[in-house]
Amino acid sequence: MSKLTQAEQDSLIEAQQTHTAEAGNPNTAKKKLSSIFPSYARYDLSLVKGKGSWVWDDKGNKYLDFTCGLAVTSLGHAPEKVGAKLKEQIDTLWHVSNLFHIPGQDKVAELLTDNSCADQVFFCNSGAEANEAAIKLARRYHQKVKGADRYEVITFEQSFHGRTLATLTATGQAKVKEGFLPLPAGFKTVPLYDLPALEAAIGEHTAAIMIEMILAEGGVLVVEPEFLHAVAQLCKDKGLLLIIDEVQTGMGRTGKLFAHQHYDLEPDIFTLAKGVASGFPAGVMLGKGYLREAFSPGSHATTFGGTPLAAAVMAATIETMLEDELPQRAAEMGEYLTGLLKEKLADCSFVIDIRGKGLLIGIECQTPVSDIVLAGQKRGLLFVNAGPNVLRLLPNLYVSTEEIDQAVDILSELIHTYAKQVNGEASS
Ligand SMILES: *Cc1c(COP(=O)(O)O)cnc(C)c1O
Repeated sequence: MSKLTQAEQDSLIEAQQTHTAEAGNPNTAKKKLSSIFPSYARYDLSLVKGKGSWVWDDKGNKYLDFTCGLAVTSLGHAPEKVGAKLKEQIDTLWHVSNLFHIPGQDKVAELLTDNSCADQVFFCNSGAEANEAAIKLARRYHQKVKGADRYEVITFEQSFHGRTLATLTATGQAKVKEGFLPLPAGFKTVPLYDLPALEAAIGEHTAAIMIEMILAEGGVLVVEPEFLHAVAQLCKDKGLLLIIDEVQTGMGRTGKLFAHQHYDLEPDIFTLAKGVASGFPAGVMLGKGYLREAFSPGSHATTFGGTPLAAAVMAATIETMLEDELPQRAAEMGEYLTGLLKEKLADCSFVIDIRGKGLLIGIECQTPVSDIVLAGQKRGLLFVNAGPNVLRLLPNLYVSTEEIDQAVDILSELIHTYAKQVNGEASS
């Protein structure tokens, strides 16, 4: 990101002080800039249409999408069954306040609780909000139900939990906190796999431990079962709640409906968002029955949580996933994709590791990979990185073997070519 010159800064400060639109408004400067805050580092691509595994840009170019809105459009773009339910609901009722019963919510809650260890759900609009609700529930459970002065949440380095003040504080990455001080109190972060550090961090005020099953943003790090079971045991021994952030891993992508179902354990709370509504904004916080009374009437709320529209899309998404056995499909396709990658990249020492679960896959490389991501776009394949050195593949759960073959051919060629450039490495 470019730093402002002193003159530009002075001009902005003057504009702020005088409230004139002129001096600091980028649109009045010679170079016409976007009216959208530049908080996103965007690729030079405008996507305007999507169907299944494919998206099109505004120039009519077609791309095979192994990004899926970052694990959001798990049923592919514009899924017809879900679209039909959305259209039906658009003609029926869009929004009513949560002051009233919303029957669509009961259906989604039943689908989620019937297929998980959770008994209670809270509907919201995003992953950060679902985690925020989880943190609030943990605090309120200890303080109101148990009468304990517990509020602290322990999280792990390299984790990602969202961008609200509380969830960015919970996040174990310094870059998301820059310039946002002071941060809210009540959070501690310890290194992943450092059990002594975790035990030392637990004190009389600790309320919960929050963890992802795969640290996706942190580089697609799959949490080792032994460590996770030790964390769960610590929670039991010390009376802490175990919160699992399934915002990215949730909804079938890893080969189970929820990633913690691979581990033979039950969290007290877990959170969903990305894959839960095929791209319609929605988040869910789910918890065990014994937490119910902590969220007594008036304690927590949001205007848009579980609107009739959102509920219709969530129900259709989850029903489709279950009917078409998409978790199973994700497991099979993930195995196929990972196997093929390992085969095609076996001779490439530039690739350090290929890992993940189901269709959440990371390829760790020796150097930063952003140029490979850009080269992929030129070849008609969309994927992203996860941290500087890891390529991340997130195809939709209906992805075909032909599409996987096509993607791996392109990827393998791109990685071999790039490896040659950086290492002068001999590759076939
Ligand atoms: C994306 C993500 C979040 C934040 O979700 P938003 O909907 O962007 O607020 C939180 N946790 C994890 C693991 C995520 O991947």
